[in-house]
Amino acid sequence: SYFNLAELIRAVFDQMEGKAESQGIALRLPADFPEQLWVWADKQRIQQVITNLTSNAIKYSNDSPEGGGWVEAQVREEGDRIRVLIKDNGRGIPAEHLNRIFERFYRVEKSRAKVSGGTGLGLAIVKHILEAHKSQIDVQSEVGKGSVFSFRLKKRKDKRSRSQQTELAE
Ligand code: ATP
Ligand code: MG
Repeated sequence: SYFNLAELIRAVFDQMEGKAESQGIALRLPADFPEQLWVWADKQRIQQVITNLTSNAIKYSNDSPEGGGWVEAQVREEGDRIRVLIKDNGRGIPAEHLNRIFERFYRVEKSRAKVSGGTGLGLAIVKHILEAHKSQIDVQSEVGKGSVFSFRLKKRKDKRSRSQQTELAE
């Protein structure tokens, strides 16, 4: 169905704010992040995608004692699609692992498994949900600098959102 993706991202961030804060990670939205962004997708499932990606960004974040860790959500228009990006300045993923992290039970640091928790299913679920939306998950990462996970959803076709119409009328 149609739903407001901007609102969903804000809701997920609100939900995870406490967890992020307790790890010294700031959840951020750009100043020009929209109020409304209508897309055609399965809202519950996309909520899970954003939750899993944000959870990872927090979990594998910059845990240096100086702090300064952040996770930022961005959205971009790409023709009839909206691209959602979840960026972090965390530990990053070594290139040789990049094409395997979407496999079930695959984790980069096995030895950390017990410490940082997790089963290695989060990204496999993300990939599966996006495939069902004829979309795909993209990742760019640099060790020690951070990661960017992104995917695209179909924009609402014809109508402008109400706020945009109001803006034009003003
Ligand atoms: P689960 O999501 O089931 O709790 P998990 O987080 O280990 O467990 P995935 O979400 O599938 O599993 O992620 C797979 C692996 O990819 C992680 O174990 C981690 O090594 C790496 N990874 C995922 N996201 C990030 C990120 N934002 N930064 C650094 N490494 C990441
Ligand atoms: Mg995970």
